[in-house]
Amino acid sequence: MARLKLATVWLGGCSGCHMSFLDMDDWLVDLAGLADVVYSLLVDAKEYPAGVDVCLVEGAVANEDNDRMIRTVRARTRVVVAFGDCAVTGNVTALRNPLGGPDLVIGRSYLTPADEGPKLPYSLGVVPPLLDRVRPVHHVVPVDAYLPGCPPPAAHIRAAVEALVAGRPGDIRGEMIRFG
Ligand code: SF4
Repeated sequence: MARLKLATVWLGGCSGCHMSFLDMDDWLVDLAGLADVVYSLLVDAKEYPAGVDVCLVEGAVANEDNDRMIRTVRARTRVVVAFGDCAVTGNVTALRNPLGGPDLVIGRSYLTPADEGPKLPYSLGVVPPLLDRVRPVHHVVPVDAYLPGCPPPAAHIRAAVEALVAGRPGDIRGEMIRFG
């Protein structure tokens, strides 16, 4: 069996889904025998490569960097998996949507208490510009499989990755479809 080119991407999420990925513990050693992790915050890859077989996408699309990244991922990946509730529904990341545009969040987070003075670090471009609304991944690009959970339990991630390695993304269902 050809080795899978596996990637993981971190968009607007808390990294908890990646922590749950690491909770697969010693099965990660088995995974290393089945797949090459070609891009991830867990490895030192600078650029998302072409020809990726499977990408687990954590987080919602919340800012311009997220938007650019997910479009690159979609163009270069055969199977895109919405990984965790934020990617699937927006979840925690989308809690700002009912407040309207991003200005209130930016003001609350980055302005001084008097709403004056330096708008650091937002005005310096350290924080990518926020989009008007936070969107789940499938609202921006087509998604091939969904793995909900906040975060998805390690056992579900393992079962999903095993199905993907075997070329059966449709097997991600049943007890794995659980939110929260
Ligand atoms: Fe964090 Fe939960 Fe969102 Fe995963 S789904 S990024 S654990 S808030």
